[in-house]
Amino acid sequence: MALDLNNYVASIPDYPEKGIIFRDITPLMADGQAYRQATDRIVQFAKDKGVEMVACPEARGFIVGCPVAYELGVGFAPARKAGKLPRETIEAKYDLEYGTSALYMHKDAIKPGQKVLIVDDLLATGGTIGATIDLVEQLGGKVVGCAFIIELKDLNGRKRLENYDTLCLMEY
Ligand code: 5GP
Repeated sequence: MALDLNNYVASIPDYPEKGIIFRDITPLMADGQAYRQATDRIVQFAKDKGVEMVACPEARGFIVGCPVAYELGVGFAPARKAGKLPRETIEAKYDLEYGTSALYMHKDAIKPGQKVLIVDDLLATGGTIGATIDLVEQLGGKVVGCAFIIELKDLNGRKRLENYDTLCLMEY
C-alpha cells in the first residue's frame, strides 16, 4: 500500500534562521520504503520522456536524483558550487534573497541534443533549478522534465518552470 510521504517530512521552525520553516527530508531517506516510493514516482514520471541524463544541483538533489538515474539506466550530471569540479566548467548565476550565487557543470557533462531530467529535493523560489536548467541548456541539452519531492507554494518557483513538464510529490 502507498505510504503518505508527508509523514516522512520533518518541519523545523526557525531553521536555518528565524521565521523559516525548514522541510527536512532525512526521515524520508531513512525509511527504505518511503525513499523507494518517492524514487519510483519520479521514475514513472520520467519513463516515457526518453531521458538520457539526469542532472541535479548539489547536495540534496544528488540524494533524490542518483537512484532515479540508476533506475532509468542513464547517466548523472552534477551541478556544483564554485571550486568543486576539477575540469573545465560552465557557470550559471542566480539570485539569492541577498546577493547572488552560481552553479557550475563540466563542459562535457551533457552532449548537445541529449534529453535531460532535472531533479532536486525541493522547489522554493526556483533560483537553484533555474540555474541548473540554464547550465543544461547552455550545453545544448533538452530539458524534458523537472521533478521535486517538495514544492513550497508561496515562493512561486513554478513560474520559472512554466515551459517545463514538472512533478512535485508534495506541497507545503
Ligand atoms: P530555491 O533556489 O528554489 O529558492 O531553493 C531550493 C534549494 O534550496 C534546493 O536545492 C533545496 O535543497 C534548498 N532548500 C531551500 N529550502 C529548503 C527546505 O526547507 N528544505 C530543504 N530540504 N531544502 C531547502
